[in-house]
Amino acid sequence: MLVNRARLFHAAGVSIPENISQLQARIAAACERANRSPAEVQLLAVSKGHSTTAIEKAAAAGQVVFGESKVQEAKAKIPQCPGRLRWQMIGHLQSNKCRDAVQLFEMIQSVDSLHLAEEISRRCEQASRTMPVLLEVNVAGESSKFGYAPGRLLEELESLNALPRLEIHGLMTIAPYVTLAEKARPFFRELKELKQRCEDRLGAPLPELSMGMSGDFEVAVEEGATIVRVGTALFGERHYHRS
Ligand SMILES: *Cc1c(COP(=O)(O)O)cnc(C)c1O
Repeated sequence: MLVNRARLFHAAGVSIPENISQLQARIAAACERANRSPAEVQLLAVSKGHSTTAIEKAAAAGQVVFGESKVQEAKAKIPQCPGRLRWQMIGHLQSNKCRDAVQLFEMIQSVDSLHLAEEISRRCEQASRTMPVLLEVNVAGESSKFGYAPGRLLEELESLNALPRLEIHGLMTIAPYVTLAEKARPFFRELKELKQRCEDRLGAPLPELSMGMSGDFEVAVEEGATIVRVGTALFGERHYHRS
């Protein structure tokens, strides 16, 4: 099926700068539909599975913030990339990788247990820094995914918020895979409602909602996303499969 694959790749766009400007235009159009300012939405370039060459092309086109999902891969790639780039962790984090994660990332979007949060805080203490984090929520309760069940998150919220080196900036979710983006809308809406409940409980605003990927980011923006995490539609196909 060589021909079909080639066509697919072409359809996805082979030019990284062109893909970025098209993505920005689609984000702006979604903002307009929702009466929002495009300045409220950050495009996070998900570079997992892509080379430093591809990352440099995106950086040359003005992209500054990148997402990686494995500490080991990030540790190998980040030192080879321009120093002005900023990196965020979006994949499941194991406690024994927190020490490296605290050195590599400006934000961790995938905090999914109090145990992990405590370890991040402890490692931040040693590194004399604080870590902005997002709490990952498994809104649809899929057994294949990491993330807090909403009820559990509300139970642990105060303990998470009490950790000295963590700053909770908001929530993150990966919506279930759907063939029609519209079908992801209820999950994005649910995350936004949960954010409101967390704000009520904490008595403080949580600015960030990280939701929406290549297949569904426009719907996520319409539902209030402040960060969309886009890999395939920006860089093309990855060189390995999603685990
Ligand atoms: C891989 C990944 C993405 C990007 O997915 P695409 O469909 O390639 O845009 C976004 N968020 C997370 C957490 C990911 O692991």
